Amino acid sequence: KPVVAIVGRPNVGKSTIFNRIVGERISIVEDIPGVTRDRIYSSGEWLAYDFNIIDTGGIDIGDEPFLEQIRQQAEIAIDEADVIIFLVNGREGVTGADEEVAKILYRSNKPVVLAVNKVDNPEMRNDIYDFYALGFGEPIPVSGSHGLGLGDLLDEVAKHFPKIDEKDYDEDVIKFSLIGRPNVGKSSLTNAILGEERVIVSDIAGTTRDAIDSALKYDGQDYVIIDTAGMRKKGKVYETTEKYSVLRALRAIERSDVVLVVLDGEEGIIEQDKHIAGYAHEAGRAVVIVVNKWDAVEKDERTMKEFEQNIREHFQFLSYAPIVFLSAKTKKRIHTLMPMINLASENHARRVQTTILNEVVTDAVARNPAPADKGKRLKVYYTTQVAVKPPAFVVFVNDPELMHFSYQRFLENRIREAFGFEGTPIKIFARER
Ligand code: GDP
Repeated sequence: KPVVAIVGRPNVGKSTIFNRIVGERISIVEDIPGVTRDRIYSSGEWLAYDFNIIDTGGIDIGDEPFLEQIRQQAEIAIDEADVIIFLVNGREGVTGADEEVAKILYRSNKPVVLAVNKVDNPEMRNDIYDFYALGFGEPIPVSGSHGLGLGDLLDEVAKHFPKIDEKDYDEDVIKFSLIGRPNVGKSSLTNAILGEERVIVSDIAGTTRDAIDSALKYDGQDYVIIDTAGMRKKGKVYETTEKYSVLRALRAIERSDVVLVVLDGEEGIIEQDKHIAGYAHEAGRAVVIVVNKWDAVEKDERTMKEFEQNIREHFQFLSYAPIVFLSAKTKKRIHTLMPMINLASENHARRVQTTILNEVVTDAVARNPAPADKGKRLKVYYTTQVAVKPPAFVVFVNDPELMHFSYQRFLENRIREAFGFEGTPIKIFARER
């Protein structure tokens, strides 16, 4: 998906425009833990386009001076976005801070669309021409508070979206990413994987992706580590902005088949780990939990089991994810990782036989019928797998309303018992026959 960023000095109305563009769809994002508090990153739709949008004003830069904050926000936008909306305030005219932002944006090679906010009525349209002086062509008048001009703005933005047929990797390449809070050892682990004896690091030919991804071969299987450069890059902005690393993680997850959720074995599990793991689950990606820094943990024969129980308690939504304990530093158990990635990836893409699937579901329903609801009872007719990555199943029933969450969970468990599906979420939908 293309990424759009809204940039501008404080109080020009970035968040208002952001919320207008995102509209109803914010609620979808609100289901993802961690993103809810800060609405800096969301998705929007315009015509045939699906895109992600960032409100850089919501990125907390800390106690830096005003201009420094604007500068860092603009740089994040330049790094992350395919198209930048440069927002100014039509009621105040061009200010020095606007000119500062403009200077930074000039130096980037990203397309910039200039929008003049707070143009709440047609008479005010005559005042926007001063903004030509900023050097980004024709300014587009909008009103965040009245919801005016947004269609024109998005038309202009969409003109700059990259062509949709952007080349991605072959089907048989396993794409994986490492996510986790800062300092759990993502970079160290990436380096350890790439430095492993049996790993052959290869080039990624002819795509724009090669700058950020790493390709490798292991036991005849091709892999790409998504967004490796982003992980290793330890620039100031990357380190200081927590919310920005969330954004980065979301994008990496979107492009992955398998997500390695990296935990710090030495520090243990904290709330932030749960949020991060939640993104991978919500996105429907295969997940492997990696407990790093296992070398630094004082252990006896129970330690691993206890840590595992702890993980299962904290990450109940990831009950399907295998857990790997290792050390990026000493390289101990690193070799157990690739087979787990393979397993998760295989299951993520797996299609089961319809006849066996129906036997499993029919048998489950016969043994444990759904309880009657207001005198009506759920009848299950037929089940079919409708998708992979992740596997999704449609159960045809007499009335989908009668399929309660707990019963759905029961069917999911039976399907898992029968087929495994270790490492991948699966989805079950009820439809009326
Ligand atoms: P990132 O922010 O998740 O990429 O974390 P880094 O890879 O930069 O690692 C953060 C710190 O943890 C660094 O000081 C590493 O040397 C240290 N570290 C990483 N992996 C291990 C490990 O397996 N064992 C130990 N003891 N320290 C580690």
